[in-house]
Amino acid sequence: MMKDIARVLISEEELHRRIREMGRELAAEYEGKDPVFLGVLKGVVVFFSDMIRAVPIKSQIDLLAVSSYGAGTESSGTIVMKKDVSLNLEGRHVVILEDIIDTGLTLKFTVEHIRKMNPASLKVCTMLDKPARRVVEIEADYVGFTIPNEFVVGCGLDYNDYYRNLPFIGVLRPEVYEK
Ligand code: 5GP
Repeated sequence: MMKDIARVLISEEELHRRIREMGRELAAEYEGKDPVFLGVLKGVVVFFSDMIRAVPIKSQIDLLAVSSYGAGTESSGTIVMKKDVSLNLEGRHVVILEDIIDTGLTLKFTVEHIRKMNPASLKVCTMLDKPARRVVEIEADYVGFTIPNEFVVGCGLDYNDYYRNLPFIGVLRPEVYEK
């Protein structure tokens, strides 16, 4: 698996340090508010499990699944809801957890979907942000790392559902997807 990685962009240590920092910020903001941490599957699984454990306050979790990518590295542009939330989010303080914001289409779709459920508040926390690729105006409230316009894998991020288990964020060798 390592031979397909051109270079490490964010190490496991750097990522965990940043997750601990964001965890402290989220804990300070949401203490006593009984928030819901809502993960967007499936790229978020690794970040989600690290992040929720970094916020030691009373809270609930939920997951929803949307999909925009086909088998390649380009978004199809069409977002499909594959699994909806199971908690009632009306009147709740909701924090959407995302793996990466690229074009912003997935997040825009998700935010609009959750807003219809009338949460008391809605914020977004993303592990990675790739602002150079944005096609819709949308920003996260908490950003782990802003990264350049390169296709990355690891920590939940995949190519063809592979590489999600890499413990760091790495740049995939273009030969892998140009084959
Ligand atoms: P957006 O809708 O913002 O274009 O894309 C969001 C989704 O595209 C992410 O949840 C992720 O699944 C996928 N994605 C965007 N950029 C990358 C990337 O650099 N690497 C990987 N593995 N997935 C990406």
